[in-house]
Amino acid sequence: MQRISRTCSLLFISGSLFASVAQAAPVALVKDGETAYGYSLEADQLVPYTVQRGMAVIDDIVLGTHANIQRHGIPSLRVRPWTSKQEVQTRDVVPFDNHIGTSSRWPNNTLYYSLEEASDAAATAFRAAIRHLESNTNVRFEERTDQTNYVRVISDAPRECSSFVGMQGGAQDLSLGEGCETMGIAAHEILHALGWAHEQSRADRDRFVTINMSNVQADKVTNFMLSQGGDPIGAYDFDSIMHYRSSAFAINTAIPTILPIDPNIQLSRLGQRNGLSAGDRASVNHFYPRLNTDLGLSLNTQQLVINKNGRGMATIDLAAKQRNLVQLTATTSNNRLINNSGIQFTHLKGNQYQLTVKPSAEMTGQAELTVQATDQFGQVVRKKLALTVLR
Ligand SMILES: [Zn+2]
Repeated sequence: MQRISRTCSLLFISGSLFASVAQAAPVALVKDGETAYGYSLEADQLVPYTVQRGMAVIDDIVLGTHANIQRHGIPSLRVRPWTSKQEVQTRDVVPFDNHIGTSSRWPNNTLYYSLEEASDAAATAFRAAIRHLESNTNVRFEERTDQTNYVRVISDAPRECSSFVGMQGGAQDLSLGEGCETMGIAAHEILHALGWAHEQSRADRDRFVTINMSNVQADKVTNFMLSQGGDPIGAYDFDSIMHYRSSAFAINTAIPTILPIDPNIQLSRLGQRNGLSAGDRASVNHFYPRLNTDLGLSLNTQQLVINKNGRGMATIDLAAKQRNLVQLTATTSNNRLINNSGIQFTHLKGNQYQLTVKPSAEMTGQAELTVQATDQFGQVVRKKLALTVLR
């Protein structure tokens, strides 16, 4: 049986449902609550979304700012690991940011959050959700002090329960407005922020459920878009906290919009918001495997490729209770290519540091660097970085 994860893009629409829309509305003409159209590179067509306080939203998923979507299109919601396999920093490679696929998982399994702008009820629900997630998964939650990337819980819009999918970089809002202040809804939105899309958006969902489009409210059809691709884990999960209820967005709520193909599946199982299912736990723990220490060290790449007489840079994300007591050091497997004086650590901002490598003059070849973090209790975490210096 094919197994497909739920950390994949939402934005593939089969057929040409929206292809008749000729042109996106100018940015300034769309008011809050109105529908706008963004070009999805992945689906190769215009896709409708709702504008809420300047943000482009599909159901409870925030795609980005409306202005950015109009300029750059709808980014892929495919969530990548924070650590890339390779960074090429040679002279002939131009730094590249096309706003596509910029979401990642959270380095060091740690999601930082701020409740400064949350209502008391939203903060209570959020805290209950993170207790539930911490006791069921390997993900950790820390109240933000100065960390670079974090979730800002807001609750100024009634009935607005929403989140980005994956870590965006910098502050990202997670809305728990009035009516959203339950543990289950908060956990659902946090799973979005950790990188999960909706269960019934999976590319294989049509083998498990039938979507009754004729009973779906016309402006909500986008909410039933399919995903594409995905990593191999997890069977389709009717009990997922990321699944919609069977009557979601129905015109006639007595008729299901989502009907399991297997008649033995009770409709009431769909859309539960009581807690993570066994499948949810397995999926989260697959993408956030257990860490052995509470000291976390992540590099944003496993390999750096640079030119002779050039230099390379990697970003370090450090998770530690007392960061000022953590020492960063590095060793090299090839002293001729690069020695210790060619390896430097500088503080970027918050909990991020920059590793700069400068190989010896005129040298080319390969070295394996071992970056090490040591805390005041003697806990040690090491990460490898392969360095390739081209002619
Ligand atoms: Zn959702």
